Amino acid sequence: MNIIMLGAPGAGKGTIAALIKEKYNLPHISTGDIFRANIKEETELGKLAKSYIDKGALVPDDVTINMVMDRLSNDDCKSGYILDGFPRTIVQATEFEKALQKSNTKIDVCILVDGDDDMIANRLSGRRVCEKCGASYHIEHMKPVKEGICDKCGGNLIHRKDDTVDVIKDRLKTYHEQTQPLIDYYGKNGNLKTVSGFLGSKEEIIKAIEGILN
Ligand code: ADP
Ligand code: ZN
Repeated sequence: MNIIMLGAPGAGKGTIAALIKEKYNLPHISTGDIFRANIKEETELGKLAKSYIDKGALVPDDVTINMVMDRLSNDDCKSGYILDGFPRTIVQATEFEKALQKSNTKIDVCILVDGDDDMIANRLSGRRVCEKCGASYHIEHMKPVKEGICDKCGGNLIHRKDDTVDVIKDRLKTYHEQTQPLIDYYGKNGNLKTVSGFLGSKEEIIKAIEGILN
């Protein structure tokens, strides 16, 4: 099963993708995570990506598309994948569609995680992420058992530089201008399903996902 997660930053794409991964045993491919891993390792790609990410802008399409296609060619993607954070522009979506057609595959479902700007700004500014495994928490709504420490792996929780108020504004603007048109695109060309970003518990989210995927 090939799945795309669509939605604003902080709407909950990553959280839902992680649950799908757990339940359906599919690789969770987050373009944001791949960029951040490159930034940490100070690769050329990382240096380039950082200059855009720090401003709340998108990394250029050609670089991003090549990176994703490279990742999808790995063996672990043969029986499906969850794409979290790609495509994020119409160019990425149309180029991706061409590549899929060439390899005779398709996207089975595009899951839109819905949320309004106020919720998203609150989610992002209170978000803390594990620097080791990438797990995501919130200082009010999804606290770790021990403050500042990841429940899953014991890593340190950090406040991402782009989760600060100024950059959040730019990220939301970028989302509305460049990514939101994809809702229409997948509404017309794909199997678009919507889940609310307001879903609370893990059980609630799993139930919603099962309703869509089974
Ligand atoms: P979030 O978890 O808030 O949705 P991500 O971790 O997915 O954010 O992405 C962080 C940043 O990485 C984005 O703000 C953007 O600069 C860059 N990025 C991620 N995916 C893409 C993409 N498909 N195209 C261009 N830039 C991207
Ligand atoms: Zn962790």
